[in-house]
Amino acid sequence: TTPHIAFLGLGNMGGPMAVNLAKAGYAIHAFDLSSEACAKAAGQPGVTIAASAAAAVDAAEIVISMLPASRHVESLYLGDDGLLTILSHGTLVIDCSTIAPASAFKVSQAAAARGVAMLDAPVSGGTAGAAAGTLTFIVGGEAQVLERARPVLLAMGKNIFHMGSNSAGQVAKLCNNMALGVIMAVTGEALALGVAHGLDAKVLSQMMAVSTGRSWATEVCNPWPGVLENAPASRGYTGGFGNDLMLKDLGLAVEAAMGVGATIPLGELARNLYALNKQAGRGSLDFSSVVKLVSEKV
Ligand code: NAD
Repeated sequence: TTPHIAFLGLGNMGGPMAVNLAKAGYAIHAFDLSSEACAKAAGQPGVTIAASAAAAVDAAEIVISMLPASRHVESLYLGDDGLLTILSHGTLVIDCSTIAPASAFKVSQAAAARGVAMLDAPVSGGTAGAAAGTLTFIVGGEAQVLERARPVLLAMGKNIFHMGSNSAGQVAKLCNNMALGVIMAVTGEALALGVAHGLDAKVLSQMMAVSTGRSWATEVCNPWPGVLENAPASRGYTGGFGNDLMLKDLGLAVEAAMGVGATIPLGELARNLYALNKQAGRGSLDFSSVVKLVSEKV
């Protein structure tokens, strides 16, 4: 029999992820604090909306959460009315949110104390990857727990990396996003410099995409409007990975670096750039709008 899955958090990422699980034949009992998010998922075959998180996990063998940040995950699972007080022994919990490694570790220890197996499994691939079922899962936790989760993860994604024990998935996710944040900001600077000298941003990007400056920022999510038709930059920087989410992830990277005495000079600089971009009123736009800090031509 296919396991009954509780899916908590039906936002930009969680909504399409829950739909892909339902398409794979799992019975999904879902919940979100936002009635708007619930309404959107309610029409999908195989998805039943529960009245509360507690109702959604009733009889669930697997619980998946996809929430904004550490405080949401801690308040869902921990405390006197947290889910860990009601989950039965042997339940598998997979948290796909991007949160602080220290927070992921804390929740996994509390879960272990109650006989609940837990993985941190943050994702990469964005809303397009969530909809297409091609996400990359970046996992921390015990290997045998990951084996139990693998078929479920493969219904939502195509790559799975086991990074180590609990919280290692979150650390790896922050490393990836810190590199992405720096690369996006400097790609914007490079294009702005070229354009200021009269170069065509599209030709410059095409050259860079087959040269040593190539990256996801040149080829897939180019920050210059009109270079790539499907990039957020070409639709007013809407509908991508929000500046505020990148700012959150860089803040987590700074925190994680301080925890072990690592130095991340460019990561810290990038955190400040996305903070300035937020102050300029672009917090909810795609993070590639950071290029607006260095050019008035975009
Ligand atoms: P979102 O804000 O669209 O969705 C989060 C949802 O969680 C909201 O609908 C909110 O109402 C709900 N929620 C909050 N607390 C809850 C609770 N206690 N119970 C039930 N629901 C609750 O965010 P998103 O874009 O879906 O991102 C989710 C996570 O994935 C974040 O940690 C983000 O950093 C990460 N992420 C996002 C992207 C992206 O491109 N959007 C890519 C990779 C990773």
